[in-house]
Amino acid sequence: MKRLYLSVPHMGENEERYVHEAFASNWLSTVGPNLDAFEAAFTARVGLPCVALGTGTAAIHLGLRLLGVGEGDEVVCPSLTFIASVNPVSWLGARPVFLDSDRASWNLDPNLLADFLAKRAAVNRLPKVVEVVHLYGQSADMDPILEVCARWGVAVLEDAAEAVGTLYKGRPCGTMGAVGAYSFNGNKIITTTGGGMLVAQNPEWVSRARFWSQQARDPGVAYEHTQMGYNYRLSNVLAGIGRGQLEVLDQRVARRREIAFRYRDAFADLGGLELMAQASYGLHTNWLSVFLVDEAKLGLSRDEVIRALDAENIESRPVWKPMHLQPLFAGYECHGGAVAEDLFRRGVCFPSSSNMTATEQERVIAVVRAAALKSRAVRSPAALHGSAP
Ligand SMILES: *Cc1c(COP(=O)(O)O)cnc(C)c1O
Repeated sequence: MKRLYLSVPHMGENEERYVHEAFASNWLSTVGPNLDAFEAAFTARVGLPCVALGTGTAAIHLGLRLLGVGEGDEVVCPSLTFIASVNPVSWLGARPVFLDSDRASWNLDPNLLADFLAKRAAVNRLPKVVEVVHLYGQSADMDPILEVCARWGVAVLEDAAEAVGTLYKGRPCGTMGAVGAYSFNGNKIITTTGGGMLVAQNPEWVSRARFWSQQARDPGVAYEHTQMGYNYRLSNVLAGIGRGQLEVLDQRVARRREIAFRYRDAFADLGGLELMAQASYGLHTNWLSVFLVDEAKLGLSRDEVIRALDAENIESRPVWKPMHLQPLFAGYECHGGAVAEDLFRRGVCFPSSSNMTATEQERVIAVVRAAALKSRAVRSPAALHGSAP
């Protein structure tokens, strides 16, 4: 059987044509019509000026620098995230402070944040930035987060790497904080093979990020530099892929949601597999179909689910390992953590590619169901005959 992966690229009709245009016109570097068109289309979609970058991580890095994060500063991050949310904090010489997530969204807990900021304000030690992450295509609960950050004058950066297409009360994720970062990595809901986008409320900040992303070369022909920069710009070739992918984003969102709800329905009678919370305030893209395993009910642990799928050549993965459990961040401050730990311990991501066929998804479902039923029969033979308690 062909290996079934977690999340693979899914091209539309026009990506190859835009890439071909780049070749035909010889715009093969970091300037060109695809870049202009990709950025214009992205801005038309989210309503903020933007700059296309080589990675989402680069967008977070530049965003933190725009917000003035530097040596000795503190940045609040949810513990439950992917490492790329946090590495740029360290690159700038700042220190992440981790906060737990809430069960309703799996994202930064607004009540915990309010308590934390009030306590820090009382000792005059507010963090420089609060970084919000929208995990797996679901928005954090932004209104209370923005309100409490505004109250204490702390800037908000949104890591919307996993939330391209996600809405919060009708607003696109990534556009509510001062700066937002998106990813077009190969496993995300749309991809440029690798790529990212930075948006900011302030257009001048976007210009500055664009300048930094191209080695911060001062205007003029003589290579003169007054600021430190990076080589972070996306190429015009890859922007062509991005153009095509943006055209099909809504279809990709619809398909990812369909896949998640198909799993939910197919596991409903089994018990012990619960779809990730779907907060009522937004559009959750379900970029990945994530489920929580209740071992007592399912008859399998999270790792047994992953092993059963792997034995049938199907890739599945645990939920992100919380940052406060990472050896890299041993000794770092963390407030709460029990929710993140539970979601990590019991969470499993199933194959979720938008180009997965119905037959392929049924294969995943059949493997999980068979493994659960087999394990129950061994653990409690009577259960097979329906006479177990
Ligand atoms: C993918 C991802 C990133 C980084 O994006 P890249 O484009 O891979 O650099 C950052 N944060 C989160 C939460 C992600 O999932």
